[in-house]
Amino acid sequence: MFRLTNVEGRACLVVGSEDGSFTVDLASWSGDEALGDPMAAIGRHAELHDLQERLSREGVSPNHPNVVSGRRGPCVPRPSKVFAIGLNYRSHAAELGSPIPDEPLVFTKFPSCLAGPNDEVHLSGSRVDWEVELVVVIGRRVRHVSPEDAWEAVAGLTLGQDVSDRDLQFRGSPPQFSLGKSFDTFGPIGPEIVSPDAFDDPDDIEISCEISGETMQRARTSDMIFSVPELISYLSHVCTLEAGDLVFTGTPSGVGMGRGRYLRDGDVIVSRAESIGTMRNRCVTGQGASRDG
Ligand code: ZN
Repeated sequence: MFRLTNVEGRACLVVGSEDGSFTVDLASWSGDEALGDPMAAIGRHAELHDLQERLSREGVSPNHPNVVSGRRGPCVPRPSKVFAIGLNYRSHAAELGSPIPDEPLVFTKFPSCLAGPNDEVHLSGSRVDWEVELVVVIGRRVRHVSPEDAWEAVAGLTLGQDVSDRDLQFRGSPPQFSLGKSFDTFGPIGPEIVSPDAFDDPDDIEISCEISGETMQRARTSDMIFSVPELISYLSHVCTLEAGDLVFTGTPSGVGMGRGRYLRDGDVIVSRAESIGTMRNRCVTGQGASRDG
């Protein structure tokens, strides 16, 4: 089991519970400077189980010289690909009046949209929406993997918001999703990557989303139409997956589009996932690039 995060661009292991957790600089503490880059640490995730165990065995305290603090960056800062899945919960397809897909509906979020778990989300317009999602972090190069073997390709799981500008998303005919979901800051992820063995059942995790104190979404990932292993297998039959690639696995019902309520200046998006933790992202206007002109 390991819990990996990004503090000020450096790979760190997380020790302790959510209330009293602290972060240990992986490279300084292990003496292996090559582990400093979060992307390198993800590629070497098999080694992190032992390092995490050693950390708890040694009882590193919050006063240890390798304990660091600072801004949490995106736990995967530079993935080669960021896939996202549309309509992967029946409840969400129903609220949008869309048919249940026969095959995964796949689109792209460009990696430049990624943000840290407590970063601001810059609203691009008046119809920007929330979508809490479980996010899969691929752990090694893989191609043509079967669903039975797909969990072996996973480094860990994290939480994400697939923030979406509904105006841009549905402006064209047929609609195209990728740009409307790729404004800078539209992909907060974190707060950490948790290895699959840390979950009672990695195919059944509760995720939820609150907007300024009101619970909007709550579901279990066991309700997904296409499961994590099915998605990985499907994608790997088209693309070679690389360590650090991300899959946003789809959002359950309760998005703003189904409620006629969108994100406003000052709203705080609180996203939670069982055993992964909490992200808090404040929304601000006037920072996002204008789509006009
Ligand atoms: Zn989504």
